[in-house]
Amino acid sequence: MKTALVCGAGGFIGSHLVKRLKREGYFVRGVDLKYPEFSPTAADEFVTGDLRDPEVCAQVLDKYFDRVYQLAADMGGAGFVFTGANDADIMHNSAMINLNMAAQAAKVGVGTFFYSSSACIYPERNQMDPNNPNCSEDSAYPAAPDSEYGWEKIFSERMFMAFARNKGLNIRIARFHNIFGPEGTWVGGREKAPAAMCRKVAEAQLDSNVEIWQNGLTTIKFPYIEMWGDGNQTRSFLYIDECLEGVERLMQSDYTDPINIGSQEMVTINQLVQMALHISGYNGDIAIRHIPGPTGVRGRNSDNRLIRETLGWAPSAPLRDGMTKTFAWIKEQVEKRAQTEKKENISHTPVVPKPQVSPISWNR
Ligand code: NAD
Repeated sequence: MKTALVCGAGGFIGSHLVKRLKREGYFVRGVDLKYPEFSPTAADEFVTGDLRDPEVCAQVLDKYFDRVYQLAADMGGAGFVFTGANDADIMHNSAMINLNMAAQAAKVGVGTFFYSSSACIYPERNQMDPNNPNCSEDSAYPAAPDSEYGWEKIFSERMFMAFARNKGLNIRIARFHNIFGPEGTWVGGREKAPAAMCRKVAEAQLDSNVEIWQNGLTTIKFPYIEMWGDGNQTRSFLYIDECLEGVERLMQSDYTDPINIGSQEMVTINQLVQMALHISGYNGDIAIRHIPGPTGVRGRNSDNRLIRETLGWAPSAPLRDGMTKTFAWIKEQVEKRAQTEKKENISHTPVVPKPQVSPISWNR
């Protein structure tokens, strides 16, 4: 039986990957600080342990595995990565995990070793124009990522490549571009834009964010959505199933340099929220409030020329399909939370902000 070790198996991508590997007939050992949050793990064995500790790495990677997937990282969305408040943890924790896993994999010997890098390694200078970002693989150097998260990823890419050259580690490296889908973090500060937008729309549908706006003698009550920045920054988002398809195809190939796994369907964050609103079927008044917050680079999109050339395949599913499935799942979570809060009599009434006209833009 083929065997796989998944580090970060309690996380979003890792827990989906475990399910896919099981469907493909692997024996899977998962390891993480925590179990998956939203459904039981599909792994045959699940170890809770801290991979910053080399002893734990030695215990979980104690024998040959056909495949090792290194997805464990201290990470989150813009609110976690771009404020600067978590930089030391992000760099230290993720680098420790990667250093330990590289050394242990080289020591024990593994079939193929996968490392999840990120689009965040690309230089900020090529992502200033929201309409023309350049994220081709060969544009990574001279390196100038806009976050410490990106710097750690590019360091670890190079470290794994050095282990490949000097110690014979058989590596595959993907630069993921904004992966999303059901069972991803949707609340709490580490969620990414698609989940955050779906949640905000679902909350607005439940009327949990209600603003009272005085317009002369008239009082208008309407739900609102807060968005960091002007919403004109561009991104692409890849649905989890296509991400895992890309990973599998990469693992089966003999391509060992870093490669983008992302969608080329670039949208503004404003368009993303409009898509969520449209999917939700909501037809009342709603306001989008643009507030200051961490937004990252102005533009980013996956460049899929290399993956198409190398693997003869690239992601192609429309963003709307993935958003539809994700919205349905997040709406369910929001409704469950509302029911629990009602049962426990938790008041979730938001503080009604002072009526403000200027930061509100209407989207009807
Ligand atoms: P995630 O946060 O859901 O999963 C990461 C997992 O690593 C978490 O479950 C966490 O508990 C675990 N972890 C953290 N520190 C650990 C430690 N010391 N020991 C053991 N486990 C530890 O993130 P994800 O979205 O599933 O991302 C998986 C990988 O893909 C990460 O390396 C991430 O940087 C990379 N990536 C993700 C995206 C994306 O959009 N989701 C984009 C680019 C790159």
